[in-house]
Amino acid sequence: MDEIQSLLTNVIPILIVLGWALLVYLILLWAASVLWAYRDIRGRSDDVMVQVLAVSLALLLPFAGLALHLILRPRQTLGEKYERTLEEQYLRRDLEEPCACPSCQRGIEPDFILCPHCHTHLRRRCDSCDKVIDLTWSVCPYCAEDGTSRTVGTRYRRAPDTQPVDVYSR
Ligand SMILES: [Zn+2]
Ligand SMILES: [Zn+2]
Repeated sequence: MDEIQSLLTNVIPILIVLGWALLVYLILLWAASVLWAYRDIRGRSDDVMVQVLAVSLALLLPFAGLALHLILRPRQTLGEKYERTLEEQYLRRDLEEPCACPSCQRGIEPDFILCPHCHTHLRRRCDSCDKVIDLTWSVCPYCAEDGTSRTVGTRYRRAPDTQPVDVYSR
């Protein structure tokens, strides 16, 4: 009996120390998880309410709160979100600017006469009506001016008092 007694008196203090060490270790882990949740949510949301909620989850429900946070947190970080919007803007710009210079392949506006990058002539202005027309067209589709004689163009030109016929509204 004495042996067991002495064994217990030796072992119990060790167990107590181990217990305390484990407790301190868990508290440190818990504190670290709260800190991590705080940093993580700050990188994912600007909303103060969301930040407070995430930190209190990790704080009030040790470890389980962190798991909940991982499930509930916004999927993208603010940095990723920013990169994504930039990417989308870039893609949208690409869609809005399908025109490219046939010579240097750089983006141009559809109504450019000349490429601002390589100075290639893309279009010309009609001598008669001043509208921008394709270089390859031998006749202006707006005023029927063929570029050789002005009288031909004026013959086909619409009289100023006639109303334009709107085919599409019918
Ligand atoms: Zn060009
Ligand atoms: Zn014309």
